[in-house]
Amino acid sequence: MSYQDLSGEVITPKDTNYENARAIYNAMIDKKPAVIVKCKNDQDVVNAVNYARDHNIEVSIRSGGHNGAGLALVDDGLVIDLSGMKGITINAATKTATIQSGNTLNDVDAATHEYGLALPSGIIGTTGIGGITLGGGIGYLSRKGGLTIDNLLECKVVLASGELVTANKDENADLFWALRGGGGNFGVVISFKFKLIEIKNVYAGPMFWPIERAKEAMMFYDNLTKNASNDLYGFFAFLIVPPAEPFPEHLWNKNVCGVVWNYTGPIEKADEVFKPIREFGPPILDFVGEIPMPALNGMFDALYPPGMQWYWRAHYIKELTPKSIEVNIQHGSKIPTMHTTTHLYPVDGACHDVSNSETAWANRDARWAQVIVGVDPDPENAEKVTNWCKNYFDDLTPYAMGGAYVNFMMNEGQERIKAAYKGNYERLVEVKTKYDPTNFFHVNQNIKPN
Ligand SMILES: Cc1cc2nc3c(=O)[nH]c(=O)nc-3n(C[C@H](O)[C@H](O)[C@H](O)COP(=O)(O)OP(=O)(O)OC[C@H]3O[C@@H](n4cnc5c(N)ncnc54)[C@H](O)[C@@H]3O)c2cc1C
Repeated sequence: MSYQDLSGEVITPKDTNYENARAIYNAMIDKKPAVIVKCKNDQDVVNAVNYARDHNIEVSIRSGGHNGAGLALVDDGLVIDLSGMKGITINAATKTATIQSGNTLNDVDAATHEYGLALPSGIIGTTGIGGITLGGGIGYLSRKGGLTIDNLLECKVVLASGELVTANKDENADLFWALRGGGGNFGVVISFKFKLIEIKNVYAGPMFWPIERAKEAMMFYDNLTKNASNDLYGFFAFLIVPPAEPFPEHLWNKNVCGVVWNYTGPIEKADEVFKPIREFGPPILDFVGEIPMPALNGMFDALYPPGMQWYWRAHYIKELTPKSIEVNIQHGSKIPTMHTTTHLYPVDGACHDVSNSETAWANRDARWAQVIVGVDPDPENAEKVTNWCKNYFDDLTPYAMGGAYVNFMMNEGQERIKAAYKGNYERLVEVKTKYDPTNFFHVNQNIKPN
């Protein structure tokens, strides 16, 4: 096939950089696209959409390449790769940022932190702003500033028709509603405009307890965070302590439980806020202290470099009960490999200030998005971590709300996608039918048009 109507860097299997270009974060995925278009500007994206549509080629969209299910790539199809589009403009006066889709969260942090500002988003810096935003966006600032989409003001989008449109609360408002949680279903988002919140340094970091205290620790954490101000965030985890500095050697490779905290209130009050937390315990590790926000956001990047085997499943959780705590401990105390873990990410606080119908993200009544993640560098362990993950997920299902955060889903079928969007699914179908009636953009957690 001749690709002369495409622009940008056009990479095919004949090119020496093809293997690099098709590598994504999850090494369990091995898809072989026919062509990868590394877009440099808006016109490259328009040309790629028009070309794929006119030649009836399947298309996928790649920003950061972090998607666990590998939805950034498509076998034998055309990948619209936005990772080279890295413009960021900050307006300090209006506290807003316009961010092209190729930026990672590290890029965003570095640009906003200079102005004492931050965008609520995810916890690993190499994640792409594109995919995380369109699925919702959960992270250390969720309780303080809501989901990433709650801070979204506008998107520039290339539709399946090749038209470049703006979506905000006044222009294409139905599209703007759908983009806030509906994923890559509606078009290629070239750039996002966000409002930012004032955050410079935070009082944050991990705190661990022995696994034998997991039951009390989970109950204590549940009660404390239920009544805490939105300035206090903490995600609960079961994990294995990495056998490396700065962790003390006596804890290396121990299966423990813990919380990664983020306190965004006045620093002079931090000791007082953490007094009861430190008194429950004592923790076997306490790395909580004042750090710059980007240091927290990038804290686990080195532990999770690209190229490992990943398999994950997720639930929304409304409450922790004695029975669900038991299930968590049963699996959380038998973590099969050092990188494998489970996290309960809070989605309460400011996330609950928005109603379920205001954006496509329909889970404002959940307290946590729990992710169960099997990870290992060695492909030989892929099956072991996958099985642990599936069994944990299945056993926890009776205590979960149904549905899952789309950004934490694998290829789990249409019923799970519908369950993720709950009462918003039908409205999403209407918007999909209007903007993408042929389901041109279907390599995603797909919302099918009528
Ligand atoms: C290590 C790790 C940590 C994570 N931590 C968090 C976290 O803290 N919080 C959280 O909320 N999520 C988190 N995630 C999940 C993450 O949000 C999803 O994996 C998301 O899909 C990643 O976005 P991306 O741009 O990197 O992905 P990609 O793989 O590039 O894209 C994934 C999909 O998103 C859609 N998409 C991406 N960009 C665009 C665009 N510009 N226009 C239209 N559609 C687009 C497409 O459907 C694409 O297939 C994490 C993932 C990993 C692997």
